[in-house]
Amino acid sequence: FKDYVSGFPKESDMYVSTKGTIRLKVPDGSNGIVVKNLYLSCDPYTRNRMTKPDTGNYYVNYLKPGLPINGLGVAKVLDSGHPNFKKGDLVWGNTGWEEYSLITDFQLLFKIQHSNVPLSYYTGILGLPGLTAYGGFYEVCSPKKGDNVFISAASGAVGQLVGQFAKLLGCYVVGSAGSKEKVDLLKNKFKFNEAFNYKEEPDLDATLKRYFSEGIDIYFENVGGKMLDAVLLNMRAHGRIAACGLISQYNLDKPEGVHNLMHLIYKRIRMEGFVVFDYFHLYPKFLEFVLPQIAEGKIVYLEDIAEGLESGPSALVGLFSGLNVGKQVVLVARE
Ligand code: NDP
Repeated sequence: FKDYVSGFPKESDMYVSTKGTIRLKVPDGSNGIVVKNLYLSCDPYTRNRMTKPDTGNYYVNYLKPGLPINGLGVAKVLDSGHPNFKKGDLVWGNTGWEEYSLITDFQLLFKIQHSNVPLSYYTGILGLPGLTAYGGFYEVCSPKKGDNVFISAASGAVGQLVGQFAKLLGCYVVGSAGSKEKVDLLKNKFKFNEAFNYKEEPDLDATLKRYFSEGIDIYFENVGGKMLDAVLLNMRAHGRIAACGLISQYNLDKPEGVHNLMHLIYKRIRMEGFVVFDYFHLYPKFLEFVLPQIAEGKIVYLEDIAEGLESGPSALVGLFSGLNVGKQVVLVARE
């Protein structure tokens, strides 16, 4: 990571370094582990961590200029000074954007127990995006059969899962995304009832009225801005809005205003923000739920895998123009 970012992040805000020594052994006396990184997760919140600290942002884990980006990934243990990990273990959680990492903080590091799914899934459906979709939908949205559900950024890492969870429950599900290819995926691969390309809809209020003639019960909010304003006009009484992310605002120096908040009151809507870290206690329950659905083909997951650590900057930056089709992953090395 080169330096703090304002506005849209650029590839040149990051650089690839081949300097430094590769450490394959844990230092004497350390209880850390050395891992070989296999897959890295590209997540929109990394942008928030690129902002200069003190800008009123609540992400405590800011990136530090001159140091490797850290984030979530899948890795293999090469050497361990920690009693819970041994050589050969596969893990997911906090690691570095580098070929090999020395991990000493174990708050967010889990041993991978299931080998019958692609390892990269632990950056997505079986990792943070999966738990975000699960916690956000089941805990925050109070969903029930027959609800009318709308999801923005619907073909992404989180959105594609929320839509499929809602379909499994018997909801009517509509998603928005930024290209025809993504709209086709939503309807044909993820089996949403309807989908539209928000970039081709000049009047989002009219668009939502077209798909939700009786209004929206649940809005899973990933983007914010104009979409949120249009949704507020189309919510049903006692609807729920899960504020998961506001990606359309992350690169703006001054966030756009929201004009239709009075509709929260008129329609007795509950709008609730949440952070996935609040739901880690549900992870075992989530795995119990989702692994059989994957095995039976009832839930599918789409990934967009960029090859090589050097493709990390472009993959990360691409999230903000919608270049990713599905969960954006960087393949660093094969097991
Ligand atoms: P995605 O895989 O959905 O990738 C981001 C997508 O956002 C892009 O592909 C693009 O899709 C869309 N996008 C980018 N810029 C804009 C814009 N200006 N307006 C509308 N859409 C835009 O990312 P994730 O699924 O990982 O994350 C989705 C949301 O969930 C983000 O807001 C993220 O910050 C949030 N999040 C929140 C968590 C929490 O704990 N609360 C945890 C994880 C994620 P398109 O082509 O459709 O425009």
